[in-house]
Amino acid sequence: MGKITGFKEFNRELPSKRSPEERIQDYKEFNTMFAADKLNNQAARCMNCGIPFCHSGCPLGNIIPEFNDAVYKENWEEAYTILSSTNNFPEFTGRICPAPCESSCVLGINKPAVTIEEIEKHIIEIAYAKGLVKPKVPLIRSGKTIAVIGSGPAGLAAAAQLNKAGHIVTVFERDDRAGGLLRYGIPDFKLEKWVVERRIQIMQEEGVVFKYNTEVGVHILADELLRDFDAIVLAGGSTIPRNLPAPGRDLKGVYYAMQFLKQQNKRVSELEVQGEEILATGKDVIVIGGGDTGSDCVGTSNRQGAKSITQFELMPVPPASRTESMPWPTYPMVLKTTSSHEEGCNRSWSVNTKEFVGDENGNLTGIRIVDVLWETDVFGRPVKFAEVEGSERVLPAQRVFLAMGFLFPQKIGLLEQLGVELDERGNVRAQEGVYQTSVNKVFAAGDMRRGQSLVVWAISEGREAARRVDQFLSGYTSLESKDAES
Ligand code: FAD
Repeated sequence: MGKITGFKEFNRELPSKRSPEERIQDYKEFNTMFAADKLNNQAARCMNCGIPFCHSGCPLGNIIPEFNDAVYKENWEEAYTILSSTNNFPEFTGRICPAPCESSCVLGINKPAVTIEEIEKHIIEIAYAKGLVKPKVPLIRSGKTIAVIGSGPAGLAAAAQLNKAGHIVTVFERDDRAGGLLRYGIPDFKLEKWVVERRIQIMQEEGVVFKYNTEVGVHILADELLRDFDAIVLAGGSTIPRNLPAPGRDLKGVYYAMQFLKQQNKRVSELEVQGEEILATGKDVIVIGGGDTGSDCVGTSNRQGAKSITQFELMPVPPASRTESMPWPTYPMVLKTTSSHEEGCNRSWSVNTKEFVGDENGNLTGIRIVDVLWETDVFGRPVKFAEVEGSERVLPAQRVFLAMGFLFPQKIGLLEQLGVELDERGNVRAQEGVYQTSVNKVFAAGDMRRGQSLVVWAISEGREAARRVDQFLSGYTSLESKDAES
C-alpha cells in the first residue's frame, strides 16, 4: 500500500468538468484529467483493507488496491499490467461505468469512496501515452475458427480473448462501424469515438477480422456460420426497445431514444444520416424514462438547442443518497444527477403518460400526463400506483423520446435461424458461468444473454464466455477468469 495515512490526509476529489455552458456548445467529453499530484493523492486514499470488497463489487474482478498502489508509486507499467489483466477495455469503463466498485469501497463506510473509476481511466490513458498499449499478436494459431456476432463490448471482449488464445476470430457487425452501443448509442460527450476506434485498430493489428454491414441472418445465414466456424459467440445485444402504446403513438414527433441518439452520433462523426432527420432544435422535448438512455437524450437535446426539456419517470423519486435508506455496500440505486441533468432539464417522477396529442396533419403538439401515487410494500418498494385526481394536464411537446429500456434481443433472423432456446424474459438462454446455449458450439454473452445491462458486465461476460469457448475447442484454457476456481 502506497501511503498508510493517505485515506486520513486526502479528501476524495474528481477532475473538474467543463462548465455546462461551455460543454453544451460541442460534443466533446465533459471530464478533464487530473493534475499529476492529485492523481497520486487519490490513489493514496486506498486503504488496502483486509477484505477489498471492491474486487467483488467489480463485475470484472479488477485488482484495485494493487493498481492503486502502483499508481501511487507512479509505476505505470505495473499499474497497466494489473488493470489489463482483468479488463480488456479500461478506456471504456474508466469513462462510463457507474462504478459498482466504488459503492463497495470499504472507505465508503464513513468517508467518500476512493475514486477508482477515474484512476482506471488515468492508468489506461497514461499507458497509451507512454506507448505501453501495443498490439500483441499470438505466437501460435490453433487453426480453430470462431464467429463473434456483434461488436459491442461483449463481442469485442470475447474476440480479444479468443484471439489472444490463438484462435482465428471474425466479428460480424450489421452496422458500418464497430462498438455496438459504445459507437452508436452512448453520445460522444460521454465517450468520444476515437477512443473506440483506437481500440479496434489494435484488435485488427492483433489479427481480429471485422466484417461490417453484415447482418447474420440476413446477409449471411446462421447455417453458413454453423458450417464454416468451429464455434459461434452470440453478442448481438438487447435491441428491442420498450414501447409506450398510448393513443397518438404514431404521431410524427414520437421516437425511440435510439433513433435520435444514433443519428447524432453519426453526425458528430460526419457520417451520412439516413432517413428522416430527427432533431430537437427549437422544440419542446419530453424524454420518457429516467435511466442512462434518457439522460443521454437530455444531453443531446441541450446540445441541439431544444427550447425546453422535461424528463418523466413513472417510478417514484429514489432516495437522494445511499445513507438515507440503504446499508453499505450498495449498488447505485439512488437519485443520480448526471452531467446531462446539470446542463438543464426539468425532472418529474411518478408521472404517467395517457396520450400523445397531435394536430390535423399528424404532428405531435403535446402530451397528456397524470401524476400517480405509489403504494409500497413492507420493504418500501413501490408495487402499485393510482392516478392523483385532478392532476391530468397537457404539456406542449413537439418531440418525445421514449427511453424506457430494452425488452430483449431481436428474434427474427439470427436467433430464429439458429433455433436457440430463449429464457422467460426472451433473452438467449445460456447459464451464467457456462455461456453455452441450447445449440451445440453456440455460446452467448452480454445483453443478448443477460438482458439490458452495463458495459462492465458485457466485457465481463465476453471474457468469461471466451474461456468456455476456448475450453470447448482446446480441452483446456489458460485465459484468465475473475473466478479462479471456475
Ligand atoms: P451492444 O453494445 O448492444 O452491441 C451489440 C452489437 O451487435 C450491435 O453493434 C449490433 O448492431 C450487433 N448485432 C446485433 N445483431 C446482429 C446480427 N444479427 N448480425 C450482426 N451484428 C448484429 N452502460 C454503462 O455501463 N454506462 C453507460 O453510461 C451506459 N449508457 C448507455 C446509453 C445508452 C443510450 C444505451 C442504449 C445503453 C447504455 N449503457 C450504458 C448500456 C450498455 O451500452 C450496454 O449494456 C452494452 O453496450 C451491452 O453490450 P453488448 O456487447 O452486449 O451489446
